[in-house]
Amino acid sequence: MDAQLIARMETWIDAHFDEMLGTLEEVVRVPSVSRYDEPPAPYGSACLRALEYMRDKARSFGFDARSIDDRCLEIGDGAAGASIALWCHLDVVPAGEGWTYTEPFEPVRVGDYLIGRGASDNKGPAVACLYVLRMLKELGVTTRHALKLCLGTDEEKRMSDVEFYARTQPASALNIVADSGFPVCYAEKGIIEANLVSRAALSCIRELKAGIASNIVPDKAEMAIALPKDAALPDCGALGERAQLTLDGTLARIRATGIPAHSAHPQSGVNAIHELTGAALKSGLPDEEAARAVRFFDRVNDDCLGTALGIAYRDEMSGDTTCAGTMAGLTNDGRAYLHVNIRYSVSADAEKMLQSIAEACVENGCILADARINAANFFPPDAPVVDTLTKVFNELSGQDAKPYVMSGGTYARKLPNALGFGMGGLKKPETDLFQPGHGGAHQADEALYLPNLKKAMAILAAGVIEADETI
Ligand SMILES: [Zn+2]
Repeated sequence: MDAQLIARMETWIDAHFDEMLGTLEEVVRVPSVSRYDEPPAPYGSACLRALEYMRDKARSFGFDARSIDDRCLEIGDGAAGASIALWCHLDVVPAGEGWTYTEPFEPVRVGDYLIGRGASDNKGPAVACLYVLRMLKELGVTTRHALKLCLGTDEEKRMSDVEFYARTQPASALNIVADSGFPVCYAEKGIIEANLVSRAALSCIRELKAGIASNIVPDKAEMAIALPKDAALPDCGALGERAQLTLDGTLARIRATGIPAHSAHPQSGVNAIHELTGAALKSGLPDEEAARAVRFFDRVNDDCLGTALGIAYRDEMSGDTTCAGTMAGLTNDGRAYLHVNIRYSVSADAEKMLQSIAEACVENGCILADARINAANFFPPDAPVVDTLTKVFNELSGQDAKPYVMSGGTYARKLPNALGFGMGGLKKPETDLFQPGHGGAHQADEALYLPNLKKAMAILAAGVIEADETI
């Protein structure tokens, strides 16, 4: 590494960091949850506004910026072929509830943190990448490959943005996705999303609602059960600490609470749906048919390994397959469903897993519906660029980190020649600013630790410069 260049970059970043934060705060103010039901297509007005804001910002720095069907924004040299592309996303998961420092889309700085939905996932990195490109340009750094930044707006839902891009645009020689942790994420587990739906309408379950997104383990779940005639009401205390039963006319209403978590790490939360199904079974109120479905849903969430669906599996490279029932509800015709979000080990066979899940459904009076497979990503870990990027990170951070595999899903899985590099994974001091279940990506009080963002910008820039020489 060129120590002088690193020093010049650090000086530039220091001088522009506040300006960059100002840009970031503006972007966090846009509530860009991707929506297919709101005009304009494809993802609604807020996502479009986020793209346009970044487009104008990029142009004000003297970059070309072009919209790819209002799904993605491509900033920088549009030249086909030999380019290195950085990737981030501007859409966010829904705000959720329980924010304690601010409204989700009104960012505030608390100590060294910026708090707001999307601050760390993934708007902070997105804005930082734009400033990295600007820095390289202003410092006169030349590269063999054209550099560009691609920003999408449907990452958190279907990744139809990057799918469209990959279908219609020339492939870059290297895609660096800045939506994981340093040093290098060379593989991502596969993802299956599916609904387990009761075959029959469950007449005694009048309401069922839980979950706000496939990839969030919910912190709230609720069910209303029609009281059977002369029903003995269960002792509320017996339903467990996290469930409450109240009477609502002829309905018994059970509300359960949990601790939210990213579905890639369901073990780190408490699934409110599991609390709810457990309490409903203990109450003895569901009739036989309903109890069968509820029991099945309960068993699916008993462990986070998919044991009840016959898909428990692990491999050396990527560890356990995980499975979380993250949303539940009633269909229009009164059938109950549990939506599952599964992160499967890189070497698992997705089609076979679907077969096991379908069989488990049939055995429990349910059917498998709306299954979607999002295939795993794999970048050869022995490719020289993996080593290059890892060394850059370790040298500049003083850490001794190794390339790794993760359970989260990023754009990398939809792009050729793609790996994750940054911008998380830098050590940070302990803080008591956030309650359990707060402060992380997809959680309330989502927070970005600013000193690390600053460091990450230099590391990312150095990584790009070195990768340019290596590939
Ligand atoms: Zn993300």
